[in-house]
Amino acid sequence: MAKRIVIIGAGESGVGSAILAQKQDFDVWVSDAGKIQNKYKDVLIKYAIPFEEGKHSEDQILNADLAVKSPGVPDTAPLIEGLKARAIPVISEIEFAGRYNQAKTICITGSNGKTTTTMLIYHLLKTAGLKVGLAGNVGQSFAWQVAEKAFDYYVIELSSFQLDGMYDFKADVAILLNITPDHLDRYDYQLQNYVDSKFRILQNQAADDFFIYGADDPIIQEELKKRDIPAMCLPFGWTETPENGAGIEGDDLVINWKKKSFNMSIFDIALQGRHNTYNSMAAGLAGVVLNIKNEKIRESLSDFKGVEHRLERFLTVHGIEFINDSKATNVNSTWYALESINKQIIWIAGGVDKGNDYAALDELVKNKVKAIICLGVDNKKIKEAFAGIVTDIVETEDMTEAVRSAYYLAKNGETVLLSPACASFDLFENYEDRGRQFKNAVREL
Ligand code: ADP
Repeated sequence: MAKRIVIIGAGESGVGSAILAQKQDFDVWVSDAGKIQNKYKDVLIKYAIPFEEGKHSEDQILNADLAVKSPGVPDTAPLIEGLKARAIPVISEIEFAGRYNQAKTICITGSNGKTTTTMLIYHLLKTAGLKVGLAGNVGQSFAWQVAEKAFDYYVIELSSFQLDGMYDFKADVAILLNITPDHLDRYDYQLQNYVDSKFRILQNQAADDFFIYGADDPIIQEELKKRDIPAMCLPFGWTETPENGAGIEGDDLVINWKKKSFNMSIFDIALQGRHNTYNSMAAGLAGVVLNIKNEKIRESLSDFKGVEHRLERFLTVHGIEFINDSKATNVNSTWYALESINKQIIWIAGGVDKGNDYAALDELVKNKVKAIICLGVDNKKIKEAFAGIVTDIVETEDMTEAVRSAYYLAKNGETVLLSPACASFDLFENYEDRGRQFKNAVREL
């Protein structure tokens, strides 16, 4: 008899899992407690996959052999606890798809820079002419692609939420960019739990696999002292280049691997800023271990267009440059944004603060920020943090007003930077909406 699989949540990853499960001859049941988007409902109907919405029918679910849970459904949901109580394994979409995937996987995690690095590596592999798919947070789900596409490689972005539902999955090339405290609410406010989750990217790796990691990161350094890593380790950092790894020498990015070396001037790298140089080192290392030619690596690192809302150099109006970094939702990413700009900055910041400590920004703000435009419902913390450092602190409550105030305060040759260090939910739908409103307001100046 066919094994029964239930898919909890019918979004991109759930529907992809359902299609793959059907192809693998499972008896499939899809259940979503909310309303399923029409585009996904149409797919389920087209494939004749049975589903329900607006409820979870326990009699259809608790008789399963296996459950695939969408990342949005919390572990604490009663249904998930019910499945676990009956010893029915609950896994993530990536774990499920990994069981049927034959292609090589390059997996990227970290607190910041995942999307940028994932897109950069995808671009690199495409430039090299490889048959490569992109999965994780962007576009079509991994499971759906495994069911219907024939790629030789996948570049996969993995958040800690996805990693938490992974057990037997193995990354052929695992990349850990950095670890800064984030999402601690999901980890009982224990940093170690979050660190453990990120290190799951190494699960099941053996000596012929690769582990590329940010060696300047103090949390990663500490954790590595406790672990024995079986894979080939390739650190990258702002230091002398290790025998196998990436570093900076003068103005060059250098990669050493098996007695061969790659180098290129950091000024030729398309993505500017120290954080992006780290991302480029990680991507270059992935290219090198996949035996991509140096000239292809150089070409792709120099012509990559970047990703929208990540330090996106949008427009220059009367000599004032406007940069959209709406995706900067924590202090660490804003630190790198401020660090990467060498002009006077009018800084638009604020929103929903996830327990920020702004002290890390003091030095940069003192040296580079001429004025702060607060854009949030509650700006008290930002005002207090910088009151002694910056004289011009303006409060605004919508994007048009914020952009106009910034434009009014800026002079020719200066930069207006939207890098909020906060989530966007108080005034916007999400960070994309915030970034788009910023760009619309700039266009209208
Ligand atoms: P993620 O997918 O991990 O959220 P993104 O690539 O979307 O990462 O970038 C999120 C924010 O972090 C952006 O503001 C970006 O400029 C910044 N950022 C990108 N790479 C790094 C890095 N290596 N370290 C710190 N901040 C980074």
